[in-house]
Amino acid sequence: MHINEFQELMQKLYYHRDSKRGVEGTYRWLVDEVNELGDALHNNDKEELAKEFADVIAWLASLANITSVNLELAAVNKYNNVCPKCKQSPCECRF
Ligand SMILES: [Zn+2]
Repeated sequence: MHINEFQELMQKLYYHRDSKRGVEGTYRWLVDEVNELGDALHNNDKEELAKEFADVIAWLASLANITSVNLELAAVNKYNNVCPKCKQSPCECRF
């Protein structure tokens, strides 16, 4: 499954709810899920970690749907085989 297909799946399953909840509410859910991912990382729980990654990408796709952003296109346009800052692969940026 491509990112596009996953985003379309989230649209089919949740757009009716996501659009009613709105951008602010959906963003808050995404932040909550990112926090839960942080907890799973802290607890080093592999099973929980996979579930939280799934929730984060699902809420990210929901937010993209209600803001009319194509996630796959956005990601591929920005990360087009090289680091967007240094234009190298692998990245050679110094942080
Ligand atoms: Zn770089």
